[in-house]
Amino acid sequence: MVHKITLINGDGIGPEVVLAAKRCIEATGVRIEWEEAIAGEEAKSKFGELLPEEALDSIKKNKVCLKGPISTPIGEGFRSVNVAIRQALDLYACVRPVKYYPGVKSHYKDIDLVIIRENSEDLYAGIEFEEGGAETKSLIAQIEKYAKKKIRPDSGISIKPISKYASQRITAFAFEYAIKFNRKKVTVVTKANIMKFTDGLFLKTAREAAKKYEGKIAFEEALVDNMAMQLVQKPHNFDVLLLPNLYGDIISDLCAGLVGGLGVTPGANIGDDIAVFEAVHGSAPKYKGLNKVNPTAMILSGALMLKYIKEDEAANNLENAVREVIAEGKSVTYDLKSDPNDPAAVGTKEMADAIILKIEGRL
Ligand code: NAD
Repeated sequence: MVHKITLINGDGIGPEVVLAAKRCIEATGVRIEWEEAIAGEEAKSKFGELLPEEALDSIKKNKVCLKGPISTPIGEGFRSVNVAIRQALDLYACVRPVKYYPGVKSHYKDIDLVIIRENSEDLYAGIEFEEGGAETKSLIAQIEKYAKKKIRPDSGISIKPISKYASQRITAFAFEYAIKFNRKKVTVVTKANIMKFTDGLFLKTAREAAKKYEGKIAFEEALVDNMAMQLVQKPHNFDVLLLPNLYGDIISDLCAGLVGGLGVTPGANIGDDIAVFEAVHGSAPKYKGLNKVNPTAMILSGALMLKYIKEDEAANNLENAVREVIAEGKSVTYDLKSDPNDPAAVGTKEMADAIILKIEGRL
């Protein structure tokens, strides 16, 4: 079977890590017809817009996309093209496995947890009112009237919507994910003691869902501040973490730090029938074109994609090849060396070459 998949190179280091991932995926023997779509800086210069309709149409048609990181332009258009893609395609679940691979420089070993982050609302909904604006003033007046609380007139306002609908579907997703991937426990993370009507709703929804899975999946609750501490002190206690959007964003980076940093953490944005696979890291513009950064996060995003399209054998082959290359510690990028200035560190392309050799050795 030939899979048709949309490929977006992205900005900065995007093209280098996406090419590395594409070559590694193809080495597994899975047959893929890539449809290249353009978004980000290249789209802006060619078509005058950061996210052309053609790119979204391609993903809608093919249902699966491998995407490089896209820079967020300062002070114009979208707050983030990446967020815009997730919103336009209703990719409501962000899945970020956090796994320790032996050989990675890290304070912890044997970590294997998964972050499920709600991807469509919360403070990421992009509903903001600038300080001093006429609408902001009128909004402040309305809020003061209804909430019977004072807001300083020189305030900016960001709105945090959390709905029952979105909380229910992400919670169901998290428990179903736990069942499918043989996980034991879901921990819901909120600040429900303070934000009773938003985080409180998210928590209440999770509690209700947990009842349905009693006896199959254990359930526990944590406050996000306490979770940050617990993750640093005893990360092995956790399995699946379920979080609203903003906490999910922050805790994702914290967890990436637990297992060696952004160079090794993959991700997926999943909706009912569309999925976009991308690394947790951004476009790291200062490394653009240097053939320097670690392609692992993007390659492992490719392995998640292969699992999603039910090419399990290829996915396992790819992940095992990455694991071996990292464990050997020879053909790895600077960030995986104990001294980042080690002259023996290889480039993005050479690390991918080493992974491909391992894949081919197993075929
Ligand atoms: P970043 O993740 O791009 O880079 C931060 C630092 O992390 C880099 O300087 C580098 O030291 C390290 N790093 C990142 N990727 C690495 C890799 N593959 N190998 C080794 N080291 C790596 O974060 P940033 O600098 O905050 O953001 C740069 C741009 O990327 C911004 O415009 C931001 O909006 C965008 N961004 C995009 C996405 C996305 O496309 N999903 C995600 C995050 C940030």
